[in-house]
Amino acid sequence: MECVFCRIVAGELPSDTLYQDEQIMAFRDINPLAPTHVLIIPKRHINSLADLSDDETQIIGHMAEVANRLARQEGIARKGYRLVVSSGEDGGQVVPHLHMHLLGGRRLSDRLC
Ligand code: 5GP
Ligand code: ZN
Repeated sequence: MECVFCRIVAGELPSDTLYQDEQIMAFRDINPLAPTHVLIIPKRHINSLADLSDDETQIIGHMAEVANRLARQEGIARKGYRLVVSSGEDGGQVVPHLHMHLLGGRRLSDRLC
């Protein structure tokens, strides 16, 4: 298995896991860009947002719901936070396993990119 996030799901690589259920998992980013930087991923390998089929879009809502809950747990919900999903090369996606970034705990740039 080559995919780094699939290896985390399988327990082959360690992670600082904050949440998991049958469908998704959330763990801290290894190279945090903000005081709170959490990755929320589907456990099943999906390459990117662009590869999500029409009947799988529910998982994005579930990922956002868990991200909101984790933002409250991290104490950043009131001041604000950002959810980011990069898709494909031009989107800046580096790890080819669908993931959502939860970023917060400091004032983020007004610029999106
Ligand atoms: P992308 O640029 O693909 O949207 O984000 C990939 C993210 O995965 C990066 O922020 C990177 O730091 C994180 N990452 C890459 N490998 C690992 C790992 O093995 N463990 C954890 N926790 N995060 C990782
Ligand atoms: Zn994977």
